[in-house]
Amino acid sequence: MIELKNIFKWYNVGGNRAFVLKDVNLQIQEGEFVSVMGPSGSGKSTLLHIIGLLDEPNEGAYLCRNEDVLKLKEKRRAEIYKQHMGFVFQAYHLIDELTVAENIDTPLIYKGLKSSERKAIVADMLDRFGIVGKKDLFPNQLSGGQQQIVGIARALAGKPKVLLADEPTGNLNSKQGEEIMELFKKLNQEDGVTIIQVTHSEKNAEYGSRIIELLDGQVIQAGS
Ligand code: ADP
Ligand code: ADP
Repeated sequence: MIELKNIFKWYNVGGNRAFVLKDVNLQIQEGEFVSVMGPSGSGKSTLLHIIGLLDEPNEGAYLCRNEDVLKLKEKRRAEIYKQHMGFVFQAYHLIDELTVAENIDTPLIYKGLKSSERKAIVADMLDRFGIVGKKDLFPNQLSGGQQQIVGIARALAGKPKVLLADEPTGNLNSKQGEEIMELFKKLNQEDGVTIIQVTHSEKNAEYGSRIIELLDGQVIQAGS
């Protein structure tokens, strides 16, 4: 489903290339639940952003459902993102000017769903995540953990086939964290959602079936 071939990513720093990803080759099958691990600065977030079509490598190829996505026009790539991907950001990336309910609604608007359908889905998400009482609050009125929950609800509202999550439980307490991991497990096993999470937690990684380990921008392990 997802295949990365000879991916390189670098930034130009003082006339030199600072490599973030160096010759990354990876395959992730539909329905997998994988964890990306490695020290801070090893390229995990960058890799996740590239897989999620939010960033582009400088070199290499990315096949997503057999489409060579880096060769596609921006518009088609954005369509694939909207139709198939859900992204949970490490720093939430909620829209400050929108309420909790409106934030969860955004991907549904982009997807072009009807207002009645959107309302039902948003209500369902609020209920499922226990945040009905917060629906009219703005992100800055919530704790970090609550904002993360809203970010997760938003990512899942559009029923993505691929869920990409950057440290999804990083700001949650251990009980909330476990609940989110149980939810991911259920989504993966019952709904067949492909999940790719960046995590520092061995415990979180155990929910997945495979660990991809990065060190200095290279994949040093991609087995189970
Ligand atoms: P993480 O917590 O995953 O290690 P970082 O702190 O490395 O995240 O990066 C957070 C954000 O800051 C990322 O979006 C990244 O692109 C950006 N960033 C990181 N390092 C630099 C840098 N040296 N120059 C500019 N932007 C950076
Ligand atoms: P991780 O998620 O493993 O912490 P990242 O993918 O966030 O790693 O970052 C990998 C490296 O890329 C870091 O050294 C970071 O400083 C660098 N980096 C990220 N974004 C930028 C940027 N916009 N400009 C320069 N360096 C960056």
